[in-house]
Amino acid sequence: DSRIARITSAIRVIPDFPKPGILFQDITTLLLDPVAFKDTIDLFVERYKDKDISVVAGVEARGFIFGPPIALAIGAKFVPMRKPNKLPGAVISEEYSLEYGTDKIEMHVGAVQEGERALVIDDLIATGGTLCAAISLLERVGVKVVECACVIELPELKGRERLGDKPLYVLVS
Ligand code: IMP
Repeated sequence: DSRIARITSAIRVIPDFPKPGILFQDITTLLLDPVAFKDTIDLFVERYKDKDISVVAGVEARGFIFGPPIALAIGAKFVPMRKPNKLPGAVISEEYSLEYGTDKIEMHVGAVQEGERALVIDDLIATGGTLCAAISLLERVGVKVVECACVIELPELKGRERLGDKPLYVLVS
């Protein structure tokens, strides 16, 4: 798909951010290119429009950029999966491990119903810990996670393996 080349070149790579040795994949430059940004959303919409998905769950923060336009286009609700202590209502939370220490994501109680079908979206998969936590949250309340989708995959970090048999769709690897 010729759209992928434009998306790939619109992503900026910033060395040594947020710490030395890390090559940060920066999607803010993709947002500056309306054609590439629209192509990104369109590719996801084309894939998910006929999959009977009722929930698009976006992971803070950049899942909040890509998730809502996809949700609107496919006629699904958007559910934010937030960092701890941001959501005002009752939440369920899921802890996950990082290289050093742990982190947590939270979702509002009642945002989704048992039996719904979800797409989980984020900008990037590295180790897969974040997406695994998002999947667990949704599955704990009886939601079927149909697929996870990211703009970017860092394959050397083997996040896809951590997801096990859960399908992962990425635009740029
Ligand atoms: P994981 O949990 O190790 O898969 O890390 C993925 C999470 O970290 C996602 O929420 C990403 O937004 C964020 N992340 C990790 N590396 C990068 C990067 O290079 N660019 C943008 N986000 C990143």
